[in-house]
Amino acid sequence: MQAFSCVNREEISTMQRKWCPNLNHRRSNAPVRYCPNCGEVVSANIIVKKCSEEEHAESRRRRNAYCTDCGAQLIK
Ligand SMILES: [Zn+2]
Ligand SMILES: [Zn+2]
Repeated sequence: MQAFSCVNREEISTMQRKWCPNLNHRRSNAPVRYCPNCGEVVSANIIVKKCSEEEHAESRRRRNAYCTDCGAQLIK
């Protein structure tokens, strides 16, 4: 029983590290390269875009923590 719960805890911590509420992670063909919530690559086949400051400001207004086009951190 003890050994079992130990293995279980390990699995849970792995899941928590990777868990992100953003739906893009669950899509097979996400429309964005980076997750706006955690900044992880969700769709590696989408080309990295060179963004302007205005685009990042607009992204910030939509409360994205990360840019979905270049992965830059917008909110610190
Ligand atoms: Zn994410
Ligand atoms: Zn960007």
